Amino acid sequence: MSLTVGVDVGGTKVLAGVVTPDGEVLATVRRPTPSQDVNDTARVIAEVVRELDEDFSIEAVGVGAAGWIDASRSVVLHAPNLAWRREPLRDRIQERVDLPVVVENDANAAAWAEYRFGAGQDQHHLILITVGTGIGGGAVVNGEIYRGHFGMAAEYGHTRAVPDGHPCGCGASGCWEQYASGKALVRFAKQRAREDASAARVLLEMAGGHADHIDGPMVTRAAQAGDAAALASFTELGDWLGWGMADLVSGWDPQCIILGGGVAEAGDLLSVPARETYAKVTALRGRTEVAEVRIAGLGNKAGLIGAADLARIR
Ligand SMILES: [Zn+2]
Repeated sequence: MSLTVGVDVGGTKVLAGVVTPDGEVLATVRRPTPSQDVNDTARVIAEVVRELDEDFSIEAVGVGAAGWIDASRSVVLHAPNLAWRREPLRDRIQERVDLPVVVENDANAAAWAEYRFGAGQDQHHLILITVGTGIGGGAVVNGEIYRGHFGMAAEYGHTRAVPDGHPCGCGASGCWEQYASGKALVRFAKQRAREDASAARVLLEMAGGHADHIDGPMVTRAAQAGDAAALASFTELGDWLGWGMADLVSGWDPQCIILGGGVAEAGDLLSVPARETYAKVTALRGRTEVAEVRIAGLGNKAGLIGAADLARIR
């Protein structure tokens, strides 16, 4: 059986796995990302590949990287949350692991995995939105990843939602990612806890009484426990997501939109308000059928599964 390794390199963790041609994950390895030094990042990627290669016979490696990849799919041009600046990632990994390597944007890889093995298996046109610390995006058009001319298509997170809005890691301001990501959720919750402590009782208890100590998992747990401020923060986030999804449908006209990423794992807390707003504001409503919203099927392994599959069909 032909086995490949997929490595999902995010701002905080490197998650690698051995994947079969059917998209089954046989083993995984996880490490923190040394995000400040490009050599350390490459070293850790090579280490996890070699570790998996000890127990399995690996044919090729796919790296899903949280950054903008050039059209030749070998250089990471820029990564908002990592130190990569015109980083020749494919060559750097290839020389360390002595296997063929392909590099893909992490959200493109996740979109590919959902198309091949997950929530989008019966769809030929889909877009994926990953709601994590930031917002990632991928698109599969006519059964192929759509990368655009310069390799940077589907970067939905950096479309401008608010002129002169909140500053963004990409250097611009008012990007959608600043209003509809995990980072935004925490900002909303902190703000609400500061303004009305009684509505944020559970949340503030978890944060030791300090609004500044609130983090993403706390907001999810507090919302699940019925905390009013945490629930309202999810509704606010869902609204922003719904508005953006309606814009994306006007631009891409996909069969479905798949919501993935760590924050989407909060399930109904996010998907209910997002779907409600999307249904209300989409410009095409009532005139034609519009894309349905689905929840990602492969969880946090989508990036590595997609990268591994792309390494197989390189
Ligand atoms: Zn941005």
